[in-house]
Amino acid sequence: MLNRRHTLLGLGAVAALAATPVVATEGRLNVVATTGMIADAARQIGGADVEVTALMGAGVDPHAYRQTRSDIAAMTRADLVLWHGLYLEAQMEDFFRGLARKREVVAVAEAMPKDLLRGHDDYADKFDPHVWMSPDLWAHVVQEVARALTAARPALADRFAANLERHLGELDRLSDYGRRVVSGVPQENRVLVTAHDAFGYFGRDYGFEVMGLQGISTQSEAGLNRIGALVDTLVERQIKAVFVETSVADRSMRALIEGAAAKGHAVAIGGELFSDAMGADGTYEATYVGMLDHNFTTIAGALGAEVPGAGMDGKLGAGH
Ligand SMILES: [Zn+2]
Repeated sequence: MLNRRHTLLGLGAVAALAATPVVATEGRLNVVATTGMIADAARQIGGADVEVTALMGAGVDPHAYRQTRSDIAAMTRADLVLWHGLYLEAQMEDFFRGLARKREVVAVAEAMPKDLLRGHDDYADKFDPHVWMSPDLWAHVVQEVARALTAARPALADRFAANLERHLGELDRLSDYGRRVVSGVPQENRVLVTAHDAFGYFGRDYGFEVMGLQGISTQSEAGLNRIGALVDTLVERQIKAVFVETSVADRSMRALIEGAAAKGHAVAIGGELFSDAMGADGTYEATYVGMLDHNFTTIAGALGAEVPGAGMDGKLGAGH
């Protein structure tokens, strides 16, 4: 739940921000995005015409993140602020609603057709925000990013449209690659056990049963009951691998593996997945395509498919 004191600080900062005169510049469009995935979409569409800052870097959990003073300063200078919405940035929701009254602020996933979205386990009136887990769904967000950039710089509409076209083609290729590699996973191995429920759309689109130790949000620790139930499932169904996530602590996953071992069933860590944050700055995995390439290749490889070691384009794991 929202921290009241912090919320007041945030709204106060919005008021201060409104008093700052906004200077129109003719240079590059200055964009601030919350997640790395949204920042990447803005870079893909905006190219050299935009300067993009992501508030959340590698390993940062968006469910728990709160804006810092330097984030507020960056948003003060921005021509356009892009956030995800769908209650992903749960701790910043009030801040953005306030900011939207003063600045050009767009929640890029809020415009998605709701019939494409999964429900939220914890809130009857909310949706699963992890739409980047499916390139086909993410294409909707990318189009919304393009719309927002074009609204901010109409003179560059043609350039943005051409970049959008190219990037949507890349997303199609990524989606095809994902389907190809997971098709090699034997049917009985199509169970994805992860630290939190970020992979629901992946499961739906790519034919996997998905189980998270924590729910759709990371805000509550996995209880002993949940761990016990998952241990039983691992043993009963002879699931051989579970996955950790770069943006969620892995102590509950270790409890899961130890619990299965105590019942005589060995479970391996199948790899580390990028659930809610991308890879380290400057790496291929710090792009949306690289992030999903890593996930597809890691999941399929650990669960029994033949996969190219370095992924779709031979770029995985190259480092900086
Ligand atoms: Zn998440």
